[in-house]
Amino acid sequence: MHVTNLIRLTGLLLIVIKAIHEANNIMAKRQASEPLEVTYNDSPASKKVRLEDVPDRNGDTPDILGAAIELNEELGEAGAVEEVLDDEDTEQTPMKSRQKAPLEGYDNLYLDSINRGSMDFDFEKLCSVTLSNINVYACLVCGKYYQGRGPKSQAYFHALEVGHHVYINMETKKVYVLPEGYEVQSKSLEDIKFVVDPWLPKEEVLRLDKEPKTAWDLLGRKYNPGFVGMNNIKANDYFNTVIQALAHVTPLRNFFMLEHLTSKPQLAQRFSTLVRKIWNPRAFKSHVSPHELLQEVSQRSAKRFTLAEQADPVDFLSWFLNNLHASLGGSKTKPGSSIVQKVFQGSLKIESQQITARADAGDRLRFEDAAVQTEISRFMILTLDLPAAPLFQDELDRNIIPQVPLSAVLSKYDGIHAQERLNTRVRYRLLHPLPPFLLLHVKRFSKNKFVAERNPTIVTFPVRSLDMSPYVEPNPAIYPPGEPIWYDLVANITHEAVRSREDSVEGEAEKKVWRVQLRDKAREEWVEVQDLYVEKASAETIFTKEAYVMVWERRKVEKKKK
Ligand SMILES: [Zn+2]
Repeated sequence: MHVTNLIRLTGLLLIVIKAIHEANNIMAKRQASEPLEVTYNDSPASKKVRLEDVPDRNGDTPDILGAAIELNEELGEAGAVEEVLDDEDTEQTPMKSRQKAPLEGYDNLYLDSINRGSMDFDFEKLCSVTLSNINVYACLVCGKYYQGRGPKSQAYFHALEVGHHVYINMETKKVYVLPEGYEVQSKSLEDIKFVVDPWLPKEEVLRLDKEPKTAWDLLGRKYNPGFVGMNNIKANDYFNTVIQALAHVTPLRNFFMLEHLTSKPQLAQRFSTLVRKIWNPRAFKSHVSPHELLQEVSQRSAKRFTLAEQADPVDFLSWFLNNLHASLGGSKTKPGSSIVQKVFQGSLKIESQQITARADAGDRLRFEDAAVQTEISRFMILTLDLPAAPLFQDELDRNIIPQVPLSAVLSKYDGIHAQERLNTRVRYRLLHPLPPFLLLHVKRFSKNKFVAERNPTIVTFPVRSLDMSPYVEPNPAIYPPGEPIWYDLVANITHEAVRSREDSVEGEAEKKVWRVQLRDKAREEWVEVQDLYVEKASAETIFTKEAYVMVWERRKVEKKKK
């Protein structure tokens, strides 16, 4: 058949299909309006995700499965499911016009219409019509997501309706031309496939902290891979700081950049994708959006951590590490059973003594100490208490912010200083071996009966060479006594209280602003990130902010050669 005839015939066919589709579409839209709510409310993770989540989600289980089945049925009624599910390489399609390959000389026909600037693959992969996340394609012209590519699928309709012809499957990263249906094999699409799911070769990952890299995004903006802004969608700055800090813990980062986690739950997969995007040297834009991971966290945490409401970074960090550990198949009882515990977990000795008061012969009160009880406990985050901030300051002292050295607040763990808790005296001491990374939480916020209080005391520290040996019980079998144990700071999450309004008076509700300072090891520089803002910071002034969560890396001791 002559080519022009074929095109004409295809054109006619398209008009017919379009008419059928429009009728269908009215139905589909009406159908979709109901499942829309169902899906959104329990966050539209796939059926696959829901099933693997079942053991973790106790009470919710029947609802979730119910909703999944319901959703499936609704989609089925809308005529989408059967197409969608066996859409992948269906050969018995009713459309005779489907092509396996482009007509000769036409293989780059639509590639010029691709618009890289419209692409944002950071958002959760949900069809913009059905809200399903099964078999989702991104339109490479307008960037929107559509389900399926078979006839009657949403991507197919979009191609007919709007005339956008090139689509990428978000799972397989194969690119197709619709409505024709053939796969495009072109080297010119490799950059797009890389942005969807960036994987760096091992040698490159291992060099990230050694060789400084500079890159440029599509708009020609310069950025340093690994030190990019993160979108604050509404109130997720607390979340951003934690993810940024963890993405700079070298062994954890390398694990998530190199391991293929397709058999693991979405939480681990989506964290891996985000870490790889933060370090992407060929990104289209010089910032990332945490939307996909946030959606999964929101669902898994039963909305304890969402993008709409600020939460406490340390609460989130603790929740996230435990859930990430579980996602990787880590054991609840066996220590060191995932990369998370291998990197952060240590142990400490807790000695507790009951304090009892008893009248002696002379009727005076005498305090007696009961026997000491010793317990060994594991930790991932160490909490540091601040000395009480002075309540009243005179006029002159108003601007003096109390300071305390880090070594002083760490003395909580030296086994000598005791804490009094109700009628119990407690002593803590860290045990060898200390973890490769220490997470320290400076406890600034407390709640009494009436108000949440904040302690603004500044903790002072050098960013290098923190000696942890005074807080560890000597154990010559593991570590030579008297030798220092050096740690260097790699990330520091800080808090700032900002007045909510220009003219607000003192004591009026303050807004919390979370930032993170990150060490750029390749440049030996510090970088401060607040959501989308990335700027250089000075190592000398890092401690002047209200440190909240610190990440310290144990320095590797070079083995002496004999
Ligand atoms: Zn489009």
